[in-house]
Amino acid sequence: MFQLSNFADANASEEAEFVLVGAPFDATTSFRPGTRCGPDAIRQASYNFETFESRYGIDLSDLRILDLGNLELGSDPGLACEAIQDSFAFIPEGATPIFLGGEHSITPPIVKKIAQSSEIGVIVLDAHLDLRDEYGGTKMSHACASRRILDIPEVKGYASIGIRSGSSEEYLYAKEQAIHYHTSEEVREKGMGQVLKVALEEVGCKRIYLSIDFDCLDPVYAPGVGNPEPFGLTSWDVREAIEVLAPRAAGLDINEIAPQYDSGQTAILGAKLAREFIAAKVARM
Ligand code: MN
Ligand code: MN
Repeated sequence: MFQLSNFADANASEEAEFVLVGAPFDATTSFRPGTRCGPDAIRQASYNFETFESRYGIDLSDLRILDLGNLELGSDPGLACEAIQDSFAFIPEGATPIFLGGEHSITPPIVKKIAQSSEIGVIVLDAHLDLRDEYGGTKMSHACASRRILDIPEVKGYASIGIRSGSSEEYLYAKEQAIHYHTSEEVREKGMGQVLKVALEEVGCKRIYLSIDFDCLDPVYAPGVGNPEPFGLTSWDVREAIEVLAPRAAGLDINEIAPQYDSGQTAILGAKLAREFIAAKVARM
């Protein structure tokens, strides 16, 4: 089921605390493809860093981290969705899953699976509302990611941060349905800390799932994404979100990294943030 490949310091064979899963699916991308190469680019970049995460005083080589490799997902979104859910059979109970995308459509099946076994709210970092009911002839498009998350009855709350793009229909839908979202301007004006505080109140859940669509970042920090959108979050903003949210996170995904469109800096940031998520979760628990 998995193709072998390894994130740095992910050498656990049993009783893993953190489990990485590559989900290299990009069949519904709307502008430019390439996120199927995201997981391996992130893994390769992960070897750039010291095993010691100095900010948290945590050495990742002391932790039990397991990398299951890449799922074989093909190009049918329905089958990919099933395969992602089936992968949970390989994730030990109590371990925190970290999925490496792939496009944003990988997130709803992950959230569904986690929400079925524990009470969670969802925080999404994204430039886009992703509230379309359908796009390009499929309800499973990455342009529908947040809409599909909101369809999951077990999800207790939702808020997105970094928003600066959507159709007029999506903005209207968000207003009508009172969907919580925070723009990148709001983060710039009030600071990520303040926005997170409000978002956590809106989500109203002790445990959250964190989904990071990498186009939440400004293209200056993350040019290697499928749909770059100017006036975005800084790498410092996303780091702060991870520091605050990791201790209460039931899981994480990092999606939409398309390494073909830059000189490696987006995957490097993705790898660093995945490592900081692990360190922050262990240090702050
Ligand atoms: Mn998205
Ligand atoms: Mn996006």
